[in-house]
Amino acid sequence: MNPGARIVVLGKQGAGKGTQAVRLSRHYVVPHVATGDIFRAAVRSGSELGKKAREYLDAGDLVPDEIVIGMVRERLTRDDTTHRGFILDGFPRTVPQADALMELIAPRVLDVVINLEIDTAQVLGRLASRRVCCDCGTNYSVVDNPARVPGICDVCGGDVVQRDDDTEFAIRRRLELYERETAPLIDWFKKRNLLATIKGTGSPDEVTERLVAEVDWRKQRAFSG
Ligand code: ADP
Repeated sequence: MNPGARIVVLGKQGAGKGTQAVRLSRHYVVPHVATGDIFRAAVRSGSELGKKAREYLDAGDLVPDEIVIGMVRERLTRDDTTHRGFILDGFPRTVPQADALMELIAPRVLDVVINLEIDTAQVLGRLASRRVCCDCGTNYSVVDNPARVPGICDVCGGDVVQRDDDTEFAIRRRLELYERETAPLIDWFKKRNLLATIKGTGSPDEVTERLVAEVDWRKQRAFSG
């Protein structure tokens, strides 16, 4: 099989995308490219990108396509991602972004687009208890998966905090935009035979097992032609 992986993870807020993307990135030894994490880091550092993105993030709105696409182009044309691939988390989120992605990686193609499926009722509870590492993006839950030392990341020692946009208002706005802008991508990728819908319920380990089985099967099939 080919080394590395080119995977997109789709799913509504709280579906477990971030958690699973970090695990897939370790499993296949490829960079985890999470657009939300890149924007949050830019806001913290006060860079030009951060200044442009801040108001959208705080309101739970989507950052305009041209800004996101420019940023992803810069990330996906570095050596590590062109050679080994990537786990894309939070991108694409609109049809123009999906078009741009396919163009950007051509002539290479994606291994698979995972649609991590979960009920809206379940995600609301997950989002309220969610905490995240500012540095490496590892997710925690104050209810069933806290950091070993409160406020400090088990993986990298970074600060573990509640995201500024995990407020009721911004969560509602993000879920609404997910239905309007991102859910249509499910059909878009299905038509291109790239979609795999995987249940996001159960323990994180169970979900990872389902994902790895699906990705390995896809890679094996592509390899044996
Ligand atoms: P969530 O999936 O919980 O909304 P993310 O960390 O993926 O969290 O994204 C946080 C915010 O970053 C989004 O609400 C949006 O403002 C911005 N963002 C991230 N990715 C994109 C994207 N592909 N297109 C537009 N905006 C984005």
